Amino acid sequence: MTHPDTKFVHGEGESAYHYGAVAEPMVLSTTFRRSSDGTFPYGFDYGREGNPNRSELERRMAALEGGVDGAAFASGMAAALAIFQSLKPGDHVVVSEDIYFGVRDALVSHFRVWGLNVSLVDATNVQNVADHVQQNTRVVFIETPSNPMLQIADIGAISQIARAYGALLVCDNSLATPLFQQPLAHGADMVVHSTTKYVNGHHDAQGGIIITREKSDHWAAVRSLQKSFGAVPSPFNCWLASRGLATLPVRVRHQSTSALILAQRLVKHPNVQEVLHPGLESSPYNELALRQMSGLGSVFSFLVRGTETEAIRVAGAVRLFQRATSFGGPESLIEHRASIEGPATKTPGNLLRVAIGLEDVDDLWSDIAQALEAASAGA
Ligand SMILES: *Cc1c(COP(=O)(O)O)cnc(C)c1O
Repeated sequence: MTHPDTKFVHGEGESAYHYGAVAEPMVLSTTFRRSSDGTFPYGFDYGREGNPNRSELERRMAALEGGVDGAAFASGMAAALAIFQSLKPGDHVVVSEDIYFGVRDALVSHFRVWGLNVSLVDATNVQNVADHVQQNTRVVFIETPSNPMLQIADIGAISQIARAYGALLVCDNSLATPLFQQPLAHGADMVVHSTTKYVNGHHDAQGGIIITREKSDHWAAVRSLQKSFGAVPSPFNCWLASRGLATLPVRVRHQSTSALILAQRLVKHPNVQEVLHPGLESSPYNELALRQMSGLGSVFSFLVRGTETEAIRVAGAVRLFQRATSFGGPESLIEHRASIEGPATKTPGNLLRVAIGLEDVDDLWSDIAQALEAASAGA
């Protein structure tokens, strides 16, 4: 069997690019010629319906997640929301509480108005999911690890509950990547990614994708939404995301190693109250994370000793870390998460989320350490 790292570079088997090109060529054409008999010889007719670079990304991501098909979207949000758009008013969904705030926000502000019944539950406790599924539950949607709290949900246990009710289990795998976690192998039915993050990996292309374990009626609905609502990614962004896949294992392993080192150092820092990283033995999710994942990723959070004021002061004092949202690129980022999530946030005011990039780990440590000290000296 091919090692996963090789699969990230080559996909499944030989690529059939024109001209014998080794690197994937980009096809920008929005329209494709018919043959004299009226058929489309290459299977493409119009850019919103399909494009060679989009197909390539969908095919490669499906293979990496162990699925049978993928549908790429213009953003992670468009991908995640297509799951809910494919349901009917009156349907019920169970969604984990610490989900990406944009998804939670859209469910509460748009989908409830539209008639979807939404139960937000703490999915780290499987019993909560069991207590909320009901006969009309169509989808259970989880994100694990979640952010910014870095909570871990048990995909296998939740999939059994979902299956017993005929509901689909969908897992947002953006933080774990297909390298470190395979939700479909644990029993999920679909996987969602914001490819904007680790997949593209360079903070320069927005995108999202859904991968399915089987070609069900629900999948046909997702495919149909992709084409008719038209929130599709450009060929260039698909090309960038596919290009990112080749280096994903090298980037993500390096970033994750640095992240755990920094988390372990932060635990011992007097100006830090708590570090939220599933790789720490002190984490309540450590055992489950190690069982379910083969690596832990490079996003984690820490609570600054003090209040929101002290936390914002620390973020204000970094020199190498960039004060910006997102994760997965070469540049390390730091963010006062409650500020971007807005007044409805449940995120602690003294929480800072970091996304570790590809800089030297000791340079990163010097920067966080000086920021923690500068902030407390200025108090
Ligand atoms: C960023 C993110 C999204 C949304 O993706 P966009 O590309 O920003 O639309 C969804 N889920 C998770 C876990 C994310 O980090």
